[in-house]
Amino acid sequence: MKKLCLTLISFFFVLNCFAQEPVQSQEDATIAETDIIAEEDCTAVEPLMINPEAYHLELRNDTLVVVCDPDLTMPKHIVIRSNDRENIYRKMFNDQTDDLMEDHPAEDIYNKIWTSERVNPYQIPIDSIPDSTIINVSNFVMPVPGYITSKFGPRKYRMHFGTDIKLQIGDSIRCAFDGQVRIVDYEPKGYGHYVVVRHDNGLETVYAHMTRPLCEVNDRVFAGDIIGLGGNTGRSTGPHLHFEIRYLGNAINTELLINYDTKQMKDSTYTITKKQTFYHQKQIQAQKSAKYVTIRQGDSLSVIARRNGTTVSRLCQLNGIKPTSTIRAGRKLRVR
Ligand SMILES: [Zn+2]
Repeated sequence: MKKLCLTLISFFFVLNCFAQEPVQSQEDATIAETDIIAEEDCTAVEPLMINPEAYHLELRNDTLVVVCDPDLTMPKHIVIRSNDRENIYRKMFNDQTDDLMEDHPAEDIYNKIWTSERVNPYQIPIDSIPDSTIINVSNFVMPVPGYITSKFGPRKYRMHFGTDIKLQIGDSIRCAFDGQVRIVDYEPKGYGHYVVVRHDNGLETVYAHMTRPLCEVNDRVFAGDIIGLGGNTGRSTGPHLHFEIRYLGNAINTELLINYDTKQMKDSTYTITKKQTFYHQKQIQAQKSAKYVTIRQGDSLSVIARRNGTTVSRLCQLNGIKPTSTIRAGRKLRVR
């Protein structure tokens, strides 16, 4: 209701402004004081949304500048000064993606499955994923600006399905694309406080180890929205964001899409292919079939090999050791 009132007030303010202010010179690229129509209240942009082709938005420091079509009888620039940077941020991205709003492939991709129960409720094998699906990733905002502390890929006894990004406790975590919050939950031995968002473009993202989520299930969220605060909850050994990108429940190495130096997508679209996108399937299969044994007192590699129906060279290959390496009782050794 408050928002509606503000919008209405702003709307009349805009109308009033047009009636009183002279049309700015079209050559005048600087922002004139007379262009200022609203302070601390960027809802004034909303009436302009009626005609989105007539203007574009530019964010200059903390000031949102609405640059109008020179043919229109309205000021060349409408400047909105605001402390509400988050709101401006959101509006900017909304505007930039107006032409993309029409395609919401997520609805088709996920059919009617909408649950907060599990990160991957779909259980769709990679082989059934259609090849060469093109995903629009142009509307991307880097969730946190830090560097990678741990990459996607196999770990000793499991698969690391995300990319770990450095942050400080309490840092803002931003939503990567427009979408809807599917899960807000807490897993003390895993993700800690985490959020899963289903995006309009068909991807889903996971944000884990938060101190505190700042969104609720079913919230409509936009790229750049703050959805939580960074932390060190769950299975985590230092403050970081564990960030996952998934498609139909299957994790994708985020580095295939994101350039972590520029904090941007490598391209405006990403094509999902079984071979390249899910290159890590062989690693997952190998890990699923992996078998570990605990080394007993007096064991040697050849004894362990014989007992488990394998060879010393295979044991060395699986564990990255040499036939002459010392093995210690109580430690684990991979035998398959
Ligand atoms: Zn991680």
